[in-house]
Amino acid sequence: MTLPRPTPPASTLPQRLHRSRLFAVYIASLAYVLYAVLTALIDPPPDGFPVGYQIPKYWAVLVSLTTALATLTFPQRVQAIYAVTSVGYLIVSTSEIPRAIGWGEMPMHLTLWLMLNVIVSYLVFGSRYGTAVNILSVAVMMTSVLLNGPIDPPNLADWATASIAIGTAGLLAYLLTAFIERNLDQHQLDSERLRAARLDALTEVYGRGAIEEEFERALGAAQCGGTPLSVIVTDIDHFKRVNDEYGHAAGDDVLRAFGKRLRRSVSGGGGLVGRWGGEEFIVLLPGVARTDAQAIAERLRGEISAEPVAGLTITASFGVAGQRDADTTTSMFSRADSALYDAKRAGRNAVR
Ligand code: GH3
Ligand code: MG
Ligand code: MG
Repeated sequence: MTLPRPTPPASTLPQRLHRSRLFAVYIASLAYVLYAVLTALIDPPPDGFPVGYQIPKYWAVLVSLTTALATLTFPQRVQAIYAVTSVGYLIVSTSEIPRAIGWGEMPMHLTLWLMLNVIVSYLVFGSRYGTAVNILSVAVMMTSVLLNGPIDPPNLADWATASIAIGTAGLLAYLLTAFIERNLDQHQLDSERLRAARLDALTEVYGRGAIEEEFERALGAAQCGGTPLSVIVTDIDHFKRVNDEYGHAAGDDVLRAFGKRLRRSVSGGGGLVGRWGGEEFIVLLPGVARTDAQAIAERLRGEISAEPVAGLTITASFGVAGQRDADTTTSMFSRADSALYDAKRAGRNAVR
C-alpha cells in the first residue's frame, strides 16, 4: 500500500526572496514604461511618429517590456534575463549620452532608468555581483561622458545632482541587500542547528523529545481533521547479543542503519521515525489506518529480516496501534508497546 502524500511545506525564505526579486523587476520595468508613455502623451516628440520615437528613451521602453515579459515567462531565469537587460540599458544609456551632453542638461529619464537599474541589479544579482555589475556600468558611462565631453560648467550642477541621486540609491540598495543576505545566512544556520538539535545524535532519526512533540502534533491534527493516525513501535530482537558478539561499535552501526532503513521506508509518504530509547524506535503514520499500518509493519519486518543491516542479519518485532476516540499519545503508545510485547512473546520477528 502507498502512504498519503505529505502536505507541501510553506514557502521558504529563499523562495520569498526570489518572489521579491521578480516583483522588483516588474515594478522597475513598468515604472519606466509608465514614465515614457506619460511623457510621450504630455510632450510628444516634435518629429512625430515614427522618426521621433526612434530615440534611446523609447528603446529603453522596449528593453523594459521585453524584460518584464521574459521574467513573467521564465521566472527561474530572472538573473540571466536581467544580465541581458543590464547590457541593453547600458547600450541605450551610452547612446543617449552624446545627445544629453549636446542638450546640456542631464535628462530626467536617464537618471530614472539608471537609478532603477542600480537598485534592481542589487536585488537580482545580490550584493557582490550587483556591485560588480554596477561598477562596470558606471565605468562605461563615465568613459562615455569623458569621450563626449566636456559638459558646459553651468550644466554640471544637473549632472552632479543626478550622479548623487544614482550613487545614493545604489549605496542604500547595497546596504539593504547585504543586510538581507546576512540575515538569510544566519537564518539558514539557525534552522540547521535547530534541525540537528531535534535529531538523535547516533541514528539521525528524531530524538525522543522531538518525536514526542511530533506525536502530540500528529494526534491533535488527526483528532481535529477526523483523519486516521497509526503508530508502530519496533524493537530489535536480541540486540544484547549483537553487542556481546560483535562489540558496542558494531551495535551502534546496526542502530544507525536500522534507523536509516525505517526512515527511508516511510518518510516518502509522510511517516516520521524517532528513537524512543536504546534499540526501540517509533514510527508515526499520519493519515494511515490501523490495517494499513499493520501491512506497512509487515513489510518493514520482511525487509529487515531479508537484508543484512550494517552487515549483520537481525530481526525486529513490531507493535501497531491505530488511533481511537479520546486517545492520548500515552494511551496510544501503551497499546502499541503491549502489542510489541505480544510480538516478542510470540517468538519475535513478528508484527502484532
Ligand atoms: P529483546 O529481543 O527482548 O528485545 O532482547 P534485547 O537483547 O534486544 O533486549 P534488551 O532490552 O535486554 O537489550 C537491549 C540492549 O541494547 C542493551 C543495551 O546495551 C543495548 N543498547 C541500548 N542502547 C544502545 C546504544 O546506543 N548502542 C549500543 N551499541 N547498544 C545499545
Ligand atoms: Mg531488543
Ligand atoms: Mg529494548
